[in-house]
Amino acid sequence: MTAPTTESESPTPPEGRVGRTLRRQLERLPQYRRHAKHLRSLLAHSTWRKLANVALVESEWLRRRRVVRGRPYILFIDPTNVCNLKCPLCPTGTGDGGREAGMLSYECFTQIIDRFSEYAYEVNLYNWGEPLLNKDIFRMIAYTHHQNLMPAMSSNLNTVRPTDVENLARSPLEYLTVSIDGTTQDVYAHYRRQGNLELVLDNLRALIDLRRRLDRKTPFIEWQFIVMRHNAHQVDEARRLAAEIGVDLVRFIPVGLPFDAKDKGKLRREWYPELSDSSPSGAASQYQFLQRPSRSACFYLYRSITVNPDGRVSPCCIVYGEKNDFGHALTDSVDALWNNERYQSARSLFSRTGVPTAPTVCDRCHIFAHRANRPRPVPAAHTNGPPT
Ligand code: SF4
Ligand code: SF4
Repeated sequence: MTAPTTESESPTPPEGRVGRTLRRQLERLPQYRRHAKHLRSLLAHSTWRKLANVALVESEWLRRRRVVRGRPYILFIDPTNVCNLKCPLCPTGTGDGGREAGMLSYECFTQIIDRFSEYAYEVNLYNWGEPLLNKDIFRMIAYTHHQNLMPAMSSNLNTVRPTDVENLARSPLEYLTVSIDGTTQDVYAHYRRQGNLELVLDNLRALIDLRRRLDRKTPFIEWQFIVMRHNAHQVDEARRLAAEIGVDLVRFIPVGLPFDAKDKGKLRREWYPELSDSSPSGAASQYQFLQRPSRSACFYLYRSITVNPDGRVSPCCIVYGEKNDFGHALTDSVDALWNNERYQSARSLFSRTGVPTAPTVCDRCHIFAHRANRPRPVPAAHTNGPPT
C-alpha cells in the first residue's frame, strides 16, 4: 500500500530569517498540493483555445484589469445546497445559507456547462451541500467528462446509496475530496454533526478496494481534515489511518469561519486550535496561522465562476446568500455577466486606479486585502470555502 502524501513529510526547517520564510512556504504545502489538482486538469483537458485563454486571464489578473476579455476556466457548479449533516460553521448546516434549498436539474446543468466549456478545464461539482443527494450527479459527472472537462467532487460520504460506491469507482470522476475531521466517532461528530464515522470509513475502504480491483487510478482520493480545537490532537492518528486505508493524499487545512458570521471572536475562541498545543506535530499553532489575507488581487474574480443550484452566480465559492449574488448563469449572457457592474466594481477594489461603482460583498472581504478593507483588526480571520 502506498503511503499517502502529507505535509508531515516536510523536513524540520532551519531557524532564522531564511528558515522562517522556508517554514512559511512548507506550511503551505497542502495548498500547493491542491494546485496539483489544477495542473492535472490543465494537462489532461487542454486545447490551444483554452491555453490562450488561461494566459489572457492570468495576465489580466496580474494587471488587475477591471474589464476583462478572458473567461473563467474553473467552474464551481453546485448540484444542491441540501445536506444530511449539520456542521456548525457551515451556513447550510446551521440553516443560514440565505438561499432556498434546492437541486440543480440536469437540463440546467448541461446548459451551464455548454456556456463555459469552450474555455474551462475543471468543474467542481460541490459547494454548499452533499452532491450525492442529487439523483443526477453521475449523469452530471459523465457530461462534464464528455465535454472535455475534469469532474471533481467533494463529499462527506455519509449518504452513500448501495450503488454509489460502484458508480464512483466506475465513473469518469477524476478527483474526490472526502471530509473526515476526526478518527473517533465523538471527535468526528463534534463538527460533522449527525455523521457516522464508521460508515464513512467503510465507504472509503470499499471505494478504494473497488478502484484497485478495477485497476483504475481515478478518482484520485483526498482525505480532507479541518484542524480545529477539538481534533488537533488526532492529526497524527488521521495520517496513520489514511495510510492504512490507502487514500492518495491527506490534506490538513485550517478552520474557517462563515463569511457573514456575526461573532467571529467567539467562534475563533471556540474552534481555532489552541496555541498552547504541544502535540508532536505542533498541529495547532501550525494551522491557526496557516492562512493570512492575500495581497494579490482576488483571483476568483478572474479565474472562476460559482453557480448555485438556482442558477444564480456568486462571486466566489466562499460567500453565500442570494443577497451577495452577481448575476445568473442562464438568463445573463456570458459576456454581459462577466463584465457586469458588480464584477467591474469588485475588480476595481484591487486595481491601482479603479473606483468601485456598486456595493458588493467584496467591499467587506477579509480574504484578499484591498483599499476599502484596510486596516484589518485581526490577522487571520479566514473563512470557509466549499464546505464538504
Ligand atoms: S468576497 Fe473576497 S474572495 Fe470572494 S470574490 Fe469577493 S474579493 Fe474575492
Ligand atoms: S460543511 Fe459540508 S457536510 Fe457539513 S453541513 Fe455543510 S455541506 Fe454539509
